[in-house]
Amino acid sequence: MDVRRQLPAVDALLMHPGVQEASARYGRRLVRRAVRQTLDDIRAQLHEAATTTSTPASASLNDAASPDSLVGQVMDCLERLSRPNSRVVFNLTGTVIHTNLGRSPLAESAIEAMAQAARDPVALEYDLESGGRGDRDRLVESLLCELTGAEAATVVNNNAGAVVLSLGALGAGREAVISRGELIEIGGAFRMPDIMQAAGCRLHEVGATNRTHARDFEAAMNEDTGLIVKAHTSNYAITGFTKSVPEHILADIAHARGVPLLVDLGSGALTDLAAYDLPYEAQPRDSIAAGADVVTFSGDKLLGGPQAGIIVGRRSLIDTIKRHPLKRALRLDKLTLAALEATLRIYRDSDDPSQHVPTLAMLSRPESEIEATGERLWVHCNDVLDDFEVALRPCMSQLGSGSLPVDRLPSRALVWTPRGVDRQGRERALRLLERAFRSLPRPVIGRLRDGAFHLDLRCLDDARKEALFIDQLETLKHHFRRQEAR
Ligand SMILES: *Cc1c(COP(=O)(O)O)cnc(C)c1O
Repeated sequence: MDVRRQLPAVDALLMHPGVQEASARYGRRLVRRAVRQTLDDIRAQLHEAATTTSTPASASLNDAASPDSLVGQVMDCLERLSRPNSRVVFNLTGTVIHTNLGRSPLAESAIEAMAQAARDPVALEYDLESGGRGDRDRLVESLLCELTGAEAATVVNNNAGAVVLSLGALGAGREAVISRGELIEIGGAFRMPDIMQAAGCRLHEVGATNRTHARDFEAAMNEDTGLIVKAHTSNYAITGFTKSVPEHILADIAHARGVPLLVDLGSGALTDLAAYDLPYEAQPRDSIAAGADVVTFSGDKLLGGPQAGIIVGRRSLIDTIKRHPLKRALRLDKLTLAALEATLRIYRDSDDPSQHVPTLAMLSRPESEIEATGERLWVHCNDVLDDFEVALRPCMSQLGSGSLPVDRLPSRALVWTPRGVDRQGRERALRLLERAFRSLPRPVIGRLRDGAFHLDLRCLDDARKEALFIDQLETLKHHFRRQEAR
């Protein structure tokens, strides 16, 4: 008997009371889609069973084709179909500003500003004083000038865009002079030499990887020089026998030739991180004070705001940059501008920005607090799966995204070590555990290292997240056992 013949038609399954109930919640359109997909899937499985073995479909497959089981599968399918692709996750990787996990979560005021701008029209390029056309950069320009000491500012989609645009506007067709120690690759194909080329500049590298002197820059200057570039070596450190030329000397060399100094800071903190016992990180204000003519930095690294590229500097140069045709292609939308403005206001007005900016809060979180979180969670984790020994251990978090490359922050991790005796079995258990955590309703992203699965708890920093993490442990167990059975 062919079970496929007995499968209900789409319309018949749609009439099932369970499915009818789902229609009220998900809408008929989505439910119909889920019913079709479920029937297609089961038909394909039955077909495969019928063609790959001579025996009829297995009993379990026949059961799966029963009306009640089909309804259950339709429900699972609906859950999958209605789940957004943009999934919220727990970042327990130990890298706080994680590019692959969307970098900085926003401050509440930034989220509110974004929601408001999304809901209603905003005076984006409209001057409420004159009633005429305005400039969208004005929403953040004065804040940026105040926070960095610059004369003018403009903003684009990200810092990579800020660098390309600045190079293209200030140095296209001419030479960009840069130290060999700063020909950085940030990842994702952002390499300084390639970026310069894409912007239409000719790369003129000077000095050696570890040492570059002022005289190297002086000797490089010629009629074709368009600008001097200094790039923050944000994801590595050159140590030992080294020398680089400070910004104020580079500025003097550039200005003697009548060309600008462009500093790509990368991260760029708007507050003194030493106040939070964090290592010192260059601030845009320092570069401007040292004589840099244009400074670029990210909105979503140490600043803790939305993805953006910020360009501050001399009025005449910022005007040139804003006139470049690429500016239009790279401009910010109203949502990002609203979030950026709200974030910048925190830095201008708040007595303690770390009270509001989540990235700063996570980076400055006291070790004792992380430990307390760990102790509360350990009790729950320890008896979820007897295949693993769970321990709370000291670890080191990283800032990430090329911020403060060599500095690590003492933290605590829940370390899951498989108990099995043979190596293969342990490795398999670890892979299954990692996958089980990843497949939770709110996926938990950790790190496999040294034969164990590590969950750095630095970013699990409030009671609500903690409760959700604990709530999911039962599901984790089911997912792990289900995968293990395969
Ligand atoms: C991160 C970084 C960039 C790229 O910035 P995005 O905001 O990721 O586009 C460029 N330069 C430096 C030095 C960086 O650290």
